[in-house]
Amino acid sequence: MKFTPYWLDTAPQGPDRSRTEIGGSVEVAIIGAGLTGLSAALHLARKGASVHVFEKDTVGFGASGRNGGMATTGLSIGFRDAISRYGFDTAKRYLMTYHDAVDTLEKLVTDENIDCDFARTGKLNLASKPAHFEGLRKTHEIMSGRLGLETRLIPRSEIHSEIGSDSYHGALVEARSAGLHAGKFTRGLAEAAARLGVTIHEKAPVEKVERLGGTKHELVTARGTVRAGQVLVATSGYTSRPFRWHQVRIAPVGSFIIVTEPLGKDVCDQLLPNRRMASNSMNLLNYFRITPDHRLLFGGRARFAMSNPQSDEKSGRILHKTMTEVFPQLTHARVDYCWGGLVDMSMDRMVHAGEQDGLFYSLGYSGHGVQMATHMGKQMAEYMSGSPDANPWNDLPFKRIPGHFGPPWFLPFAGAFYKFKDIVK
Ligand SMILES: Cc1cc2nc3c(=O)[nH]c(=O)nc-3n(C[C@H](O)[C@H](O)[C@H](O)COP(=O)(O)OP(=O)(O)OC[C@H]3O[C@@H](n4cnc5c(N)ncnc54)[C@H](O)[C@@H]3O)c2cc1C
Repeated sequence: MKFTPYWLDTAPQGPDRSRTEIGGSVEVAIIGAGLTGLSAALHLARKGASVHVFEKDTVGFGASGRNGGMATTGLSIGFRDAISRYGFDTAKRYLMTYHDAVDTLEKLVTDENIDCDFARTGKLNLASKPAHFEGLRKTHEIMSGRLGLETRLIPRSEIHSEIGSDSYHGALVEARSAGLHAGKFTRGLAEAAARLGVTIHEKAPVEKVERLGGTKHELVTARGTVRAGQVLVATSGYTSRPFRWHQVRIAPVGSFIIVTEPLGKDVCDQLLPNRRMASNSMNLLNYFRITPDHRLLFGGRARFAMSNPQSDEKSGRILHKTMTEVFPQLTHARVDYCWGGLVDMSMDRMVHAGEQDGLFYSLGYSGHGVQMATHMGKQMAEYMSGSPDANPWNDLPFKRIPGHFGPPWFLPFAGAFYKFKDIVK
């Protein structure tokens, strides 16, 4: 078994960018070569800006190379929860931003000719408990009735038309969500940005940031110092000390994935005949899909823990047990890959973007960033070019997580809380 993301292992490798020259002045510096940073870089370069991206490790090292490759249309919180929090009109605006985000991603793939298996497969939301199906029914009524969206309710009696499992009490299908190859997309985006003149520096962690006035900063990296007219913090769940204001507003929660051996088309036709991006309805949820080469990718917040090799292996064992409970037919299927990554959870599980002390940022995708990080890269390029309305999350206050001073000591307690909620609800 490989403890490396399947996506990065099966995507073409870009050139080595760990020996680039760092120094002098640049118009825009972007911290982090994930989807937010690379998309922002590409869209700023299209406007003619000189852009340098500084990445601690390599392109796609963070969540962008480690996710499920699901570009789905929902918020990180349930839509009915969003309505009670923000009111119908605002909740609708936030929700539709995710539809815009999948469109942005698709357009980028087409315009830049990125070969990444993008397909509008739709999303399958599975009810883990009978009461959850009632919740899906209410959501369907709002989505298809009041919003006019393409959703379809699948009762338990028809569940085998969508999934080869008896674990669920019905499902909601949403048609506009998409799947893609996360490694090919992230690395493809980096190459597209580089073609437009963006310089990407790998193995270049930004260790110190000093404000020179306005939005101008001096960045000290491990490989040299640079001055930038504008800086975008795009570090997601990997945000660390130099960006303390942002760090204490984000909980880096581990999410883990296993990928089976190739199962063949016939087996996959039985598991998920319509190739939907599937997830269940628990707080500590599982998500799964078929990869382009007919493997099952099965992920989840197996444990509320940080990702590291030991943690990943332990989580992999838990995920394998759950996967074979959902799909007993896979009991003897070999697991070829197991890895973990960090999700950037904000207090309210909403995206937060803007400018603070002269630094631009877009963070807090809370597990729904494949489409939104890509979209926010585009929107931040507009925002940083002087269009404040380009930020769809302008009106949300970005609250500090109480008691968060750096290391996320509180994760096991948060995990116990959500486990309890899953038992009682
Ligand atoms: C296991 C897992 C599964 C997921 N599945 C899905 C999914 O199926 N669908 C979905 O929509 N979302 C999913 N997500 C979330 C999604 O992947 C992220 O929201 C998105 O990729 C965030 O992109 P980003 O560019 O903001 O951050 P990242 O891709 O995390 O990039 C941040 C980068 O910043 C770099 N960095 C940090 N500090 C510094 C520094 N000081 N100097 C230089 N570089 C620095 C890091 O090395 C990292 O590469 C998943 C996440 C995980 C972890």
